[in-house]
Amino acid sequence: MIQSVAFIGLGAMGYRMAAHLPKHFKQVYVWNRNFAKAEQHAAEYPTQAVPLEQAVQADVIFSCLPTSQDVEALITPLTLKAGSIWVDCTSGIPESARKLTLLLKTQQQVDFLDAPVSGQTIGAENATLTFMVGGNAAAFERALPAMQAMGKLIQHVGESGAGFAVKAVNNMLMAVNLCAVAEGFTTLKAHGVSLNAALECINASSGKSAVTESVFPQRVLNRQFPLTFALSLLAKDTGIAQDLVREAKLSAPVIGLTHSLIQAANSLAEEPGDFSTAIKMYESWSKITLE
Ligand code: NDP
Repeated sequence: MIQSVAFIGLGAMGYRMAAHLPKHFKQVYVWNRNFAKAEQHAAEYPTQAVPLEQAVQADVIFSCLPTSQDVEALITPLTLKAGSIWVDCTSGIPESARKLTLLLKTQQQVDFLDAPVSGQTIGAENATLTFMVGGNAAAFERALPAMQAMGKLIQHVGESGAGFAVKAVNNMLMAVNLCAVAEGFTTLKAHGVSLNAALECINASSGKSAVTESVFPQRVLNRQFPLTFALSLLAKDTGIAQDLVREAKLSAPVIGLTHSLIQAANSLAEEPGDFSTAIKMYESWSKITLE
């Protein structure tokens, strides 16, 4: 029975995810590095902004930070409550999940689940996220009600690290699509084809994807590029996917090339931007604007 829940990392995802927890749990602690955000959350929702040491005494602790390195640095010095479960919603590194699982279990009798999410900030806002969870199956069952407060599909995908692996491959597939759509639509525009008309046809055909159905019309063609998921975070995810390929000693040229392209787009960006701004690299190469 979960009495208390905590959420650590109130960024673009975490702030919105944590907002659902008080609807299901009486005691909800929030903590953020820039603590003013935690105080703002507690003013807006029935959550309690508390010091980190207190937040981690909850029965279930969620974290959603940029990288696994950030999570490891945060967790390592902490004393947690024996019997609690740490649910990490960061899009992280499988090897790090295995390391933290072992460390927390042996030293603090705490279970660690890698539980990255997909669905973007709108999914966080509407509690319709997909959770892909790796780790101990019994801990998954115990933490399930807390994840259900923020998600729609909550899927146990295997042992520790499996959740992070699925998420990295998912985001890689999206990145492959983003690059392919940029190339395809640049080509169409060079041939004088209306991009809106082409998009309508493709979205009713076999070439459609989440990129053609939402990213391209809602972020690129309207030139809005709203910053909800940073390009630097996508470059981190494609890097994790590429490392997985390398560790498995496989050959995956499309993944390798896509990681290089996303990394290049991220390095070329003059300021932090949304993942959809990767398209701008193609625009600068071709001198064709996708609008
Ligand atoms: P943001 O950059 O918006 O938020 C990051 C959060 O982590 C902030 O609360 C920040 O605190 C905190 N933080 C950063 N570094 C540290 C640190 N070293 N120690 C403690 N806290 C830290 O990121 P998102 O919410 O967009 O993404 C979070 C994770 O979720 C990433 O792994 C991302 O890949 C993944 N994700 C993002 C999606 C999206 O659409 N945005 C969708 C699905 C997954 P502070 O306020 O103090 O800077």
